[in-house]
Amino acid sequence: MLETKNLKFESNNYLKPNTYMKIMKFGGTSVGKPERMHQVKELITRDNQKKIVVLSALSGTTNALVGIGDALADANKTLAKERIDTLHKHYLAFYKELLKTESAQKKAEKIIAEHFEFLNIILKISFNEAINRDILAQGELLSTKLFYTLLQELDIPAVFLPALDFMSIDENHEPELKKISEKLESILSNYADESFFITQGYICKNHRNEVDNLKRGGSDYSASLIGAAINASVVEIWTDIDGMHNNDPRIVDQTRPIAEMSFDEAAELAYFGAKILHPASIWPAQHHNIAVKLLNTMEPDAPGTTITAQEVGIGVKALAAKDGITAIKIKSSRMLLAYGFLRKVFEVFEKYKTSIDMITTSEVAVSVTVDDVSHLSEIVKELEAYGAVEVDQNQAIISIVGNMIAESKGSIAQIMNCLTDYPVRMVSYGGSRHNVSLLVDAQFKNAALQSLNDGLFEW
Ligand code: ADP
Ligand code: ASP
Ligand code: MG
Repeated sequence: MLETKNLKFESNNYLKPNTYMKIMKFGGTSVGKPERMHQVKELITRDNQKKIVVLSALSGTTNALVGIGDALADANKTLAKERIDTLHKHYLAFYKELLKTESAQKKAEKIIAEHFEFLNIILKISFNEAINRDILAQGELLSTKLFYTLLQELDIPAVFLPALDFMSIDENHEPELKKISEKLESILSNYADESFFITQGYICKNHRNEVDNLKRGGSDYSASLIGAAINASVVEIWTDIDGMHNNDPRIVDQTRPIAEMSFDEAAELAYFGAKILHPASIWPAQHHNIAVKLLNTMEPDAPGTTITAQEVGIGVKALAAKDGITAIKIKSSRMLLAYGFLRKVFEVFEKYKTSIDMITTSEVAVSVTVDDVSHLSEIVKELEAYGAVEVDQNQAIISIVGNMIAESKGSIAQIMNCLTDYPVRMVSYGGSRHNVSLLVDAQFKNAALQSLNDGLFEW
């Protein structure tokens, strides 16, 4: 279930209109090669509108940093050192191709030396989770500093905005939007005449003032939060594909971009597995009614996808899927005609801060799905007080998203007709106007997505 829990929406009068500024976020592949970084420079300088440019790490870097942290967590310093050296070589080759002048190259050498010295020092001290998060932050720090050096080399005036000076999360890992907004407005007020601001996606400070992050893919979330914090005119997410497609292009043959969709539809797709957007990246823009555009760095004039409050069209628009789902069934004859049973069940999940995605009930049983299994054994133990508990792992949720699906005639029949070859374990239909969710064993996910693609869309 899409959650906007713990969000501090009530006090948003702090926002001053700032419709003259836009956000342009570029993902890993958009900055992953020297020529792509040059392309990003072209894109941000196409007009003179004030903008905050949010960059991810170069593609592959965060995975490499995760690998370094994993090796250190296993106390395998030799492997960690090998991984650091491989990444280091990549950056040494990258800057030489990115920058032409001696002075810019010198700056880049210094930047790279500092960050790899930091990683090498970490090899010598005892490893913990806070240090791991410091390691993960190096990618966005490197990409933004190298890009900023490129702008300096080309005499393009820009301001470097360290995200760690304004981006923060609280003890529940929720972004502190009011604080972010106040800090950003105060920083920006020092640069009334500047047009280009460069900052890092993904990284932030936590309530202990340590370096933290917004989880994998979190640069989209940073962009939307920054957009909401300054009330930007638009949040542009520049990536390696021409917008949100109607199905997962990594899995399904024949997908096509969707020109327009609503915030609710995009949020459902992001939450239920459309990798193009971080799962939480829609709500900040949605709450402040700021359009989000998904655009292709490699094909900048393609229309992409525009996401606004407007609901366009009726019926199924797109599919997404999320694996790693666990289904939990609680069966109890005591549920029959009993009130308060569901409350007790939900309280167990609440106690362990585990959010439920799908729910189905019958007179004698309730089935729910979760993706966070860190407290599964405690949850199962407590649920056993209310009935027999069955757990099925390796499930996948297929989410069918559109507008007024439950209201369109025959839509459920059409969906089910595509799935005659696959056992459907749960169905959630009518809970929202935008979503029908199905639970299938993960082994059927890809085939079911293809079959739904063939049956639900006209080609
Ligand atoms: P970035 O590095 O720019 O953040 P991501 O790799 O995170 O890019 O997201 C873009 C990728 O998302 C695409 O290359 C595509 O393979 C994948 N993707 C998955 N589902 C969809 C979808 N429904 N529409 C478009 N892209 C999708
Ligand atoms: N670099 C981070 C990641 O790979 C954040 C992002 O790219 O959005 O997850
Ligand atoms: Mg991404």
